Formats: sequence, C-alpha cells, structure tokens
Amino acid sequence: MINIFREMENRGVTDSSVRLQDGRTNVVTEYILQRLVLVCEEIRVTDVDALGYLEILFYRVLEDKRISRKDRSLLHILIKMEEDLEFSVKIFGERSAFILDFLEADTLVRATSKTANEPEKEVLGKILYIRRTYLEEKTKEGARSVNKPMETAAYLDEHVIGQRDAKIAISTAVYGHEKRIRNPEKRFVPDVVLLIGPTGCGKTEIMRRIRDITGLPMVFTDVSSLGASQFRGRHKEDILLELYEKAGRKKSLAEKGIVFMDEFDKILLPAISDRGVNVHDDVQSQLLTMLEGSEVELKQESQSFLLDTSHILFVLAGAFQGIDEYIRQGIKEKSEVSGGIGFNALLDKEMDASFIRENIDHEVLMRYGMKRELAGRISSIAVLEKLGKKELIRILTEPKESITERLSRELRLSCDAELVFTPEALEAAAELALKDGSGARALNGIMSNAVREVLYKAPDMKGLKKVIIDEKAISREGSIQYIFEESIEETIENFSAEGNVLHEESF
Ligand code: ADP
Repeated sequence: MINIFREMENRGVTDSSVRLQDGRTNVVTEYILQRLVLVCEEIRVTDVDALGYLEILFYRVLEDKRISRKDRSLLHILIKMEEDLEFSVKIFGERSAFILDFLEADTLVRATSKTANEPEKEVLGKILYIRRTYLEEKTKEGARSVNKPMETAAYLDEHVIGQRDAKIAISTAVYGHEKRIRNPEKRFVPDVVLLIGPTGCGKTEIMRRIRDITGLPMVFTDVSSLGASQFRGRHKEDILLELYEKAGRKKSLAEKGIVFMDEFDKILLPAISDRGVNVHDDVQSQLLTMLEGSEVELKQESQSFLLDTSHILFVLAGAFQGIDEYIRQGIKEKSEVSGGIGFNALLDKEMDASFIRENIDHEVLMRYGMKRELAGRISSIAVLEKLGKKELIRILTEPKESITERLSRELRLSCDAELVFTPEALEAAAELALKDGSGARALNGIMSNAVREVLYKAPDMKGLKKVIIDEKAISREGSIQYIFEESIEETIENFSAEGNVLHEESF
C-alpha cells in the first residue's frame, strides 16, 4: 500500500508544520476530517472498505484546488493514523480492522485537548464521540442474547454470497462458544473449526461479520509468520497478547475471545532454518498447546500472568492447495488393498469443493503435513467454493453495503448524483477479477479505479444528475457518461412527445 499522506508530503502538497491562524476556518482540516468522520460513521455501521476509501480521499485532497499548501496542521495525525492502518493491515488483513486502532489512537485524544482551532476541535470531538458511542454499543451488544445458529447464518447471508457449508459450521461453533462462555464453571477444550477454501472466497469475511455481531474480542492472525520458540520472532504468546489488547486488557474477556488463524496450510509444510530446525514443526507444537486448552504465560510491561485458552474459539483457515491430490492418493492406496474398485470411479470425478468436502478427514490433513494431535483437535471442517463469474457479479451488488452501493452512496453524498453500473460493466469487472486470480479481493480495486475520476470531478460539475459506468469504463477503454439536469429534462420531453410516458400502473 502506498503511504498516502507521506506521498502527499513528497509531492509538496503539504506542510505539516504550518500552524492554523486563529479564528479562520481551515478548509483542509475540515475537509479531511469531515471525510474521516464519514469513514468512522460508515465503518461503524457498515464496515466499509477503509483502504479504498482512504485512497479516494487521498486523490481528492491531492487534486483539490481549494486546498492551499498551508493549512495542514493535522497532517501528523493522519500520518500517525496511516501507520496504525498499515500496522493493522499487516495483522488483520486488508479491510477495516483498523477501526479500533484508529479510533483509539491516543494522538486523536491528545490533539483534541491541545488544539485551539474551533473547527478542528469540533470535528475531532465528533470523532471521539463516535468512538465512544461505538464502544458503548459494543458493550451493550455484549449483554445481548445469544444468536441461534440459523439466525447467525441468516445474518451472514446478508453479507456473504454462497459458502453455505462454512456459514453453517461457523454459526454453530459460535453458538456453542457463546453458550459455553456463559457457563464458564465447566471446563472444556476449545472448539476448533477449519475453513478450507481458495484465496478471496470469503473465509475472513465470514469471521469479520461474526466479530460485528458477537462483539467478542477477535484476533485475525497470519500463522505463517510465526517463528520457532527458541528463536526470536512472533510466537503463540504474541497472538494471545493481541487478543488481550483487543479485550481492552481484560483477562477474563480475552479468555472468551475468538482467534482466527489464516494461512494455516503454510505451516504444514516443512520449513528448515539455517540451524537445521524445522520451524513449522515447532510452530505446530506451539499452536497445539493453545488449541488443547492450556494456561499460557504472557508478559507485559515487566509483569507476567497466565491466560487460559480453554474457552477460546479457534478458527483455522487456508487454501490447502493440492489437497485433492492427497485425497486421491489416499483413495488409491485404499482401493489397491480392496482390488482397485473405488479409484477407477474417481478418475472421472471433478476435484471440486464438494469432492473435498465428501472426502476430507483427519487422515488427509495428516498426509498434508498436520501433526496427528493437531488434526485430532479439529472439531469441524468446512470447505468453501471457488467463486465464479456469477458469484462475483452477485458480490458486486447483492450484499448489504455492497461495493456498488458504497460507491453510489459516496457520489450521492458528494454531489447528489446517481451512479449507475450497467450489467455489462458488472460482468466486465467480474471477468477482470477472475483474471486476477485473487477471488473477490480484486473487485474493490477494479470498481474504485473505475469511479475514481467520477468522484474527483463530480463535485465540480454543476447540475450533474447521473453517471453511467459501462464495460468500457471498467476496462478503461472508453469514457464515462455524465448526464446533466437539462439533458434528463430533454430526454423526458422527447419521451413525452413521442407518447412513451410510463404510467405507474405499468410497473
Ligand atoms: P479469504 O477467503 O482469502 O479470507 P476474504 O474473505 O478476505 O478472503 O475476501 C476478500 C474480500 O472479498 C472481502 O473483503 C470481501 O469483500 C470479498 N468477498 C470474498 N468472498 C466473498 C463472498 N462470498 N461474499 C461477499 N464478499 C466476498
């Protein structure tokens, strides 16, 4: 990711040291902060894609003629915010997980108490207010009743396209988890769910949505970056410390949290260090200790304490590329023993998600490289589908707060014009994403790129009513159509003159 605000500095757009002149409305500060407030508000309710939003914001600020080279006193806050963002992006994945870090950034709090500039104070105050409301709501949610699995799955249906198997597995596990943590007197071993599916198919997205409805502390972590315990680097303790931080440093809350471990398949392959140690073997052992339910010693600020993992819900995820071959091999070996019957039938079978779903078991996971004890800890396995063109098109429009809905809202907010994507445009975007090979992940960038020019120009276009994005605009081979008030009136007049007026009854 580009460092947006540093880039602004490099391009000489800003001067972070310039102080505000008393009593003068600071256009830049207001402009940037109002948009940040928007980001906050949107994220709070919609978990909007913060990165995409910031990028749009960047280009707008960069090109906005109203912004002088002075008036940048909040830049240091934005730089700090972006550092937070980059930090979070590394840990949690691409989307808006930075929200808490951003909203909790001490910098904002300090800036509010320090600034003498009224508009600045006001907008910062608003951000802090949003933060407070957000946290209060989270606490309230903590006291709400437990969602039954079908209710959770229905909620997931509003946001995630397809992936029924995973929705059922996760909704059931989360229900069991919430029930268990309300009866903590009983001792359990943690629940462990494994999600298998190609990149960008919704594994993390499902968990982000679960975080939103459960309000439980949740850590998204990439386990492929863990190191062997005897070496320096990230270890299991760091994952738990992060959970502890997410729980507002409340040990009892952290012990009820959820840990999502991405790239789990990567640690099943051997990784031999310079000193001849199989790092991944050690990493698997470290994770096993957590997954078995144990008290892990954590150190923070020279104090140490024990965190019990028995009630934590663990979700492991990975693409498990080539796992179908391991299944095939297993079936072949078995069929050789029984005279080769089963394997021949298998030869014509397509190695799709349903094939994996039908045949995956602990034995296959062990063949893939998982330690027996670790495989034995997995209580449920769900296999997600690879997304095809049809699903990618649905993702663009169907989920609540879909990409197209978000971009349309963005345009409406800035100039009250309507943003329309033709069906061919959606199809073209899906095709581009398919080519990219990262599942639905590429969609956001493709769509944001297509409308970047619109979002930049539209606020200066008087009388703009409608913007049409077709397939050529998506592939950048054609121009975007801008429709203005007069031309709409003209169209309606022509329409009426020809007697083609649509009456309400005809709908
Ligand atoms: P992964 O499966 O690699 O964890 P993600 O769940 O992070 O991938 O998906 C990347 C992005 O693509 C998400 O932020 C989400 O916007 C979108 N996405 C992926 N799959 C789906 C889906 N099934 N329904 C809706 N959006 C999806």
